[in-house]
Amino acid sequence: MSFDTSESFARETDRRDPLASFRGRFHRPRGRIYLDGNSLGLASREAAAELSRTLREWRTLGIGGWLEADPPWFTLGETLGALAAPLVGACSEEVVCAGTTTVDLHALVATFYRPEGRRRRILADCLNFPSDLYALAGQLKLRGLAAEHLLVLAESRDARTLDEAQLIARMDDEVALVLLPSVLYRSGQLLDLERLARAARERGILIGLDCSHSVGAVPHRFDAWGVDFAFWCGYKYLNGGPGSPAFLYVNRRHFGAEPLLAGWWGYIKERQFAMDPEFRHEPSAAGWQISTPAVLSAAPLLGALRVIHDAGIERIRARSLELTGYLMFLVDNLLPQERTCLSIGTPREAGRRGGHVALEGPGWMWQVHQAIKARGIVPDYRPPGVIRLAPTALYTSFHEVWRTVRTIKTVLDRGEYRRYPLERTAVT
Ligand SMILES: *Cc1c(COP(=O)(O)O)cnc(C)c1O
Repeated sequence: MSFDTSESFARETDRRDPLASFRGRFHRPRGRIYLDGNSLGLASREAAAELSRTLREWRTLGIGGWLEADPPWFTLGETLGALAAPLVGACSEEVVCAGTTTVDLHALVATFYRPEGRRRRILADCLNFPSDLYALAGQLKLRGLAAEHLLVLAESRDARTLDEAQLIARMDDEVALVLLPSVLYRSGQLLDLERLARAARERGILIGLDCSHSVGAVPHRFDAWGVDFAFWCGYKYLNGGPGSPAFLYVNRRHFGAEPLLAGWWGYIKERQFAMDPEFRHEPSAAGWQISTPAVLSAAPLLGALRVIHDAGIERIRARSLELTGYLMFLVDNLLPQERTCLSIGTPREAGRRGGHVALEGPGWMWQVHQAIKARGIVPDYRPPGVIRLAPTALYTSFHEVWRTVRTIKTVLDRGEYRRYPLERTAVT
């Protein structure tokens, strides 16, 4: 697709958008341009309706809802897992909606980190989401192992991207487990997951993926790639709402492995209420559930996933790439680096970027962030000096992207950002 910088081009492209009708299915904050769908996706009408419906079921059915609600709460995790499975190229039994992202990481690593002989290391990367690194170090310490020796973080040459060849070179015979993100939360780089999974497998290493920043924006093929396990949150591109539960994937070849962060919700489903004191897990991803599902928090996902299926993940990806491509084009042409000191930290190639664009700049980027926010743009900010802009396929228009870059230009041209403080607030 070729772009130009005119407003009429933006409007014309929106008129031809095959996903245009989806905008109306979302509650969009009035008077704002919402570019934070990679942090918290917006509420669709369907998601909100499912939440209200579930609340009604609670009112009318009480405890009966576990079996009589539609779908029954007793198997809500499995139902949602089956709905999400096509988004990651898995079969229904391999995905379950349960717990939260970091808790699912713990539950999976408890099973899949199996140090043996020389193979004792966990390979992760220095750019991963900090929660994942805290959890991995915690898992090692729980077993009385020295996290400072056994948790190996692959480095980044440019502090924003990872090199697959370098990661693979780190997969030596001392590594038991590799845990990597699909899309780096700061720069937006999409890793070549197929290549990394193949390399891990060839070396007898298990590989797990944190796909919080890609599911719902990018198609995945976990089964075909031979990924061992994965997990991702429900509130970013899946639009499940704040505090939405997460999803986990276990490749079916591991269904016999034991969930060691065990809980009764992972028990063989039809015998769960036999209350057997000895744990026997459901031989599917459902076995890695721990507790009673958070039914009210999970309910919006029923509607949210329906919206994504209606649009189709391939069409979502195509539109997302057009939006991010257009955004980068406007930054290059309206905010030239030699004049503004701003640059794009996201890889340019379509196959190497996820759903957001990282705009990098000097220390005063936090002030720019505040200035554009005051003008109705909703981005987010990650230190040092990165403004993340996520034009979401289902509800962001080309015209909004155009207005965003024009707004950044105005704020810079007029020096408006200098009015804002340099100190940061708690949630950015
Ligand atoms: C958003 C995100 C998380 C979130 O973790 P929670 O446990 O849901 O708070 C974890 N990892 C990555 C890569 C993320 O992008």
